[in-house]
Amino acid sequence: MRVTGVERWTAPSGDPFSLLHIEMAQRYRHAVGSADPFYRGLDNGVLRATECPECGSTWFPPRRFCVADLSETTWYDLPGTGRIVAATRVHSPPPFGGIEVPYILASIRLDGVDGGITHRVVAEDIPERGTVVAVTFSNRQPAHPLLRIAFVVKEVTA
Ligand SMILES: [Zn+2]
Repeated sequence: MRVTGVERWTAPSGDPFSLLHIEMAQRYRHAVGSADPFYRGLDNGVLRATECPECGSTWFPPRRFCVADLSETTWYDLPGTGRIVAATRVHSPPPFGGIEVPYILASIRLDGVDGGITHRVVAEDIPERGTVVAVTFSNRQPAHPLLRIAFVVKEVTA
């Protein structure tokens, strides 16, 4: 950890205060365990979900075991499309960085699975509820594997 600067500010009350600019770095290794097929899917340009072979329940984010009957699930590929449930413009970067602000963050109900994802949508305007989006994959190595994906507007629903 190191202090890279000091900023002088004035509170609304008129009292002066200082802001320290602090840089911290951490390194860690995180095993993804049974979620490995999901991360390999990101490398291969596909979102992957799981399905229970007993009751047919599906999950995204994927689950290894069915919550209803504890059966081990199987993996399958999603079409990569979905619909906006809600969206907003975000003016602060995510904790792991790698995204320029402001950006559009949306809750997306994915096609082909009971579930969805809250993720970045590349758009100028905040998409309306029901807007059809499609996942895109980047080849760059981002700060987090999930930053390899973003969604783009495919069809605007009036
Ligand atoms: Zn089940």
